[in-house]
Amino acid sequence: MIELQDLTKQYQNPQTGAEFYAVRHLDLTFPTGEITALLGPSGCGKTTTLRMINRLSEPSSGRILIDGEDVLSVRPELLRRRIGYVIQQVGLFPHLTVAQNVATVPDLLGQPKAQTAGRVRELLSLVGLEPSEFAHKRPNELSGGQAQRVGVARALAADPPVLLMDEPFGALDPLAREKVQDAFLDIQRRLHKTVVMVTHDIDEALRMGDRVALMNAGELAQFGTPDDLVRRP
Ligand code: ADP
Ligand code: ADP
Repeated sequence: MIELQDLTKQYQNPQTGAEFYAVRHLDLTFPTGEITALLGPSGCGKTTTLRMINRLSEPSSGRILIDGEDVLSVRPELLRRRIGYVIQQVGLFPHLTVAQNVATVPDLLGQPKAQTAGRVRELLSLVGLEPSEFAHKRPNELSGGQAQRVGVARALAADPPVLLMDEPFGALDPLAREKVQDAFLDIQRRLHKTVVMVTHDIDEALRMGDRVALMNAGELAQFGTPDDLVRRP
């Protein structure tokens, strides 16, 4: 379970120099083993919230607990093991093969190569990419959907209990998007990760989220199951 407690992030407006709230007194719990869609219009603070969870950004105030432990007290290497991160522009390393990209985090963590190689094949199969066909390809030989699958495999490589995803399917055309969404839901049914998925697409949030947290102007506007949300007037 991830708990955000009175979480606030202030930035300075580069033009006027005035401080403003990107995230404002946010209290929110992401349940273990569920997908929570963090939904809201562009600029409402979704990405800022996500980046504070994995410490790519420092809160101005408030706390973030993962299973009761303050993320600020967790060593960065340990946080990488616990949190997988998927972004819209997959950010695959172009000069590395698919297999080497998926192995990035285990290699960083110094895990044995032989063990990682087996794990990489498993993960590629899991995301629906035949290892013998894809392991040795370079990112520029992949379609958008295939690249995004590699991104998901890479994020799962260290078997983190938590997965943070920022518009993971946002760059895909509708057909590819639906296929990768389905592939991901299938994986989630087996792995039960604690997933926070940022999206501005209400259909995606309702389709994929076990819960939906609706943000507006840095604050939580609504939180509930997709059913709760669409039933509201
Ligand atoms: P969302 O992900 O919902 O589109 P963001 O979290 O990216 O929103 O941004 C929230 C607000 O904070 C926006 O007004 C954005 O311009 C601002 N913001 C985000 N990052 C920075 C930054 N590094 N410096 C200044 N302002 C920022
Ligand atoms: P980027 O701007 O592409 O996120 P980073 O250097 O922050 O650049 O991250 C490079 C890659 O490493 C990311 O695309 C992501 O897959 C992975 N990564 C970054 N932060 C974490 C983290 N806290 N836990 C696991 N993987 C991470």
